[in-house]
Amino acid sequence: MKIVMIGAGYVGLVSGVCFSDFGHEVVCVDKDPAKIESLTRGEVPIYEPGLQALMSKNIEAGRLSFTLDLKGALEGAEAVFIAVGTPTRRGDGHADLTYVMEAAQEVAQLAPDGIVVVTKSTVPVGTNRQVKQAIRKANKSLEFEVASNPEFLREGAAIKDFMNPDRVVVGVQNTRAEEVMREIYRPLYLREFPVVVTDLESAELIKYASNAFLATKVTFINEMAALCEKVGADVKEVARGMGLDGRIGNKFLHAGPGYGGSCFPKDTKALARIGQENAVPMQITETVIKVNEGVKQRMLDRLLDLCDGSFKDKTIGVLGVTFKPETDDMRDAPALTIIPALVGAGAKVKVCDPEGQREGENLLPGVTWVDDPYKAAGSAQLLVLLTEWNEFRALNLKKIVRKMSDPVLADFRNVYSAKEAKKAKFSVYASVGRVDMV
Ligand code: NAD
Repeated sequence: MKIVMIGAGYVGLVSGVCFSDFGHEVVCVDKDPAKIESLTRGEVPIYEPGLQALMSKNIEAGRLSFTLDLKGALEGAEAVFIAVGTPTRRGDGHADLTYVMEAAQEVAQLAPDGIVVVTKSTVPVGTNRQVKQAIRKANKSLEFEVASNPEFLREGAAIKDFMNPDRVVVGVQNTRAEEVMREIYRPLYLREFPVVVTDLESAELIKYASNAFLATKVTFINEMAALCEKVGADVKEVARGMGLDGRIGNKFLHAGPGYGGSCFPKDTKALARIGQENAVPMQITETVIKVNEGVKQRMLDRLLDLCDGSFKDKTIGVLGVTFKPETDDMRDAPALTIIPALVGAGAKVKVCDPEGQREGENLLPGVTWVDDPYKAAGSAQLLVLLTEWNEFRALNLKKIVRKMSDPVLADFRNVYSAKEAKKAKFSVYASVGRVDMV
């Protein structure tokens, strides 16, 4: 089957590469000439484990190509996926559908008859119907169907998630679109996973409901962490004890500096907006959004305490700026709240991140980038662990202490323990949801 993927970002590129690996002929189209140039040279413009090798394999096999030319790409195609960004619209929290609707307009003019237009982007309820109307209005004679196929992959484990999904969700209006979608995913069927075939609205909402639920779980344990610190409990023990209950599960119960990333912040805001527009306020989600902002602020307050009330002229090392390990994505990362506040208050900030520098250089002016965690600790009065990259999980803590001018560690991912910190002779070890060692 010939498939066109509009948008070669994290989702479009991974989906396109994986579909080509299933054996389909895939053409990825993007508006960004630099991205297409780099992809045409065979270079992956983002950091995603395993993507380079899988992409090269499928380019060589002649099943995968990249272009700026949507018209040429659509020739003979049976399905076109829209995988463009849906960022938060300024001001009101609504998902910005500009890119989706632009792509739909282009498809309307250029697609062949019989095409199935699949929305992979995360979009508010009603968008697939809007896409259908827009295409119909722009090209009355085109024969086409629409389908919703939200994506659940996680950056950093995107290929594994795409190839071994917990479920594939497909929203359709008729059997023809369902058949095409089943055919696209058929090569995966050997691995046995549920395909949830449903209506367009349910498919659209499944995505938001899933992300809002996960954001709620993370925020719940972050709030519990604050209580643990006050009452002398250990949030890791609390999370473990909770997570062993099969009804709760142990995933997304790791306390930290607040959720970030390309999806949770914007999708929770969009769901809250959908609720308001339909006069069904999403009160839990609205609270989660507020509490998460508070979590990031709480981290800053704790750092201020560790710096005796002033960041001015303090040297602070930061380990990790991406919103999680194994990605270069910094969208809405907690680092974007915490580091500018430190720099703005007069601290000298040294930052180390295995993949975050390229993106971070634009987003974090005024910091010094170093390529090694021990350099980040050099002459520092405070070292903050913000992202739990493997590179930061087995540090030689004694060596870190020797490098620092005042050995204070803020471990906001609970990678280490007070016992280890004490043994290494840190003067203070602060973590999340556990009593500080002073
Ligand atoms: P992204 O910003 O990385 O990529 C979007 C790409 O679309 C960009 O390369 C942009 O140049 C391109 N584009 C925009 N308009 C275009 C057009 N008309 N024609 C061709 N290309 C165009 O975004 P992303 O992270 O891949 O997210 C895409 C969608 O998938 C979003 O709705 C997001 O919510 C959803 N999603 C993302 C993730 C994730 O982990 N990133 C996971 C699940 C779902």
